[in-house]
Amino acid sequence: MKIGIDVGGTKCLGVAVDDSGKVVQQYRLPTPHADALCDTLVEIVAQLGEFKFIGIGVPGLISPEGVIRASPNLVGAKELALRQMVEDRLGKKVLVENDATCAALGEWKSGAAHGATDAWVITLGTGIGGGFISGSVLQRGAHGFAGEVGHMVVDPDGPLCPCGRKGCWERYASGNGLSFLANGEKGEDVLSRAKAGAADALGVVDTFAKWVALGLVNLTNMTDPDVIVVGGGVIVSADVVMPRIAHWFEQLLYSPQHRAHPRLVAAQLGEQAGAIGAAMLNTSV
Ligand SMILES: [Zn+2]
Repeated sequence: MKIGIDVGGTKCLGVAVDDSGKVVQQYRLPTPHADALCDTLVEIVAQLGEFKFIGIGVPGLISPEGVIRASPNLVGAKELALRQMVEDRLGKKVLVENDATCAALGEWKSGAAHGATDAWVITLGTGIGGGFISGSVLQRGAHGFAGEVGHMVVDPDGPLCPCGRKGCWERYASGNGLSFLANGEKGEDVLSRAKAGAADALGVVDTFAKWVALGLVNLTNMTDPDVIVVGGGVIVSADVVMPRIAHWFEQLLYSPQHRAHPRLVAAQLGEQAGAIGAAMLNTSV
């Protein structure tokens, strides 16, 4: 049995995964202040039972040594040596990785990107998480910080981002971005009105889809993937959103008639993607 835990801004979700990759149990607790994070993780592990390996996914900049360098959505988490702390408490090997990188690993090993040699897994949530596989290798970059696509600037004169710059992709193409484009209406409300056929909501979703596609085209120009997996809360309404993203992707792609197009698909593992991927971190070398 292996355990994976996805540390989110509000909750920590742990799963126990058997040798075939199947989730056999899950347990969640609210995310505490960083001072108590190790205690919470140990409690989740205790609830999930015996295991050979534990992997942890955390949002933010995570060093290869498992140190949380900075994590804007985790209160108090700065230069926190989480891997060492949890290993000391449990006496077993632990790996800590960026949460979006974990989600990419999960979708690649047992979800919508299974079998791909080159793939992006993009999660549209509060912000945008990104992870990618190139040449059948999960990419981490020189310092572990690869795939921070949410802060790719797509509009230098756009709205201010918490990262301190203007017009980051996630200002437009995340769940929060959808709400911004709808003048503050909740993203889920826009989507349900769009599903019911409301013309103004469909217009907002179309604009949103164009922003999503713009970023995906940029990623395609950089890495030439064979599949792009799109997940996150917005994709619960995949039937409304995905065809529009695909439409704009075709419109915006560079030299579309002279190349194979990547497949755009909805994520399959839902909110468990990061935890499942974390449980597989020891197979990701
Ligand atoms: Zn930003």
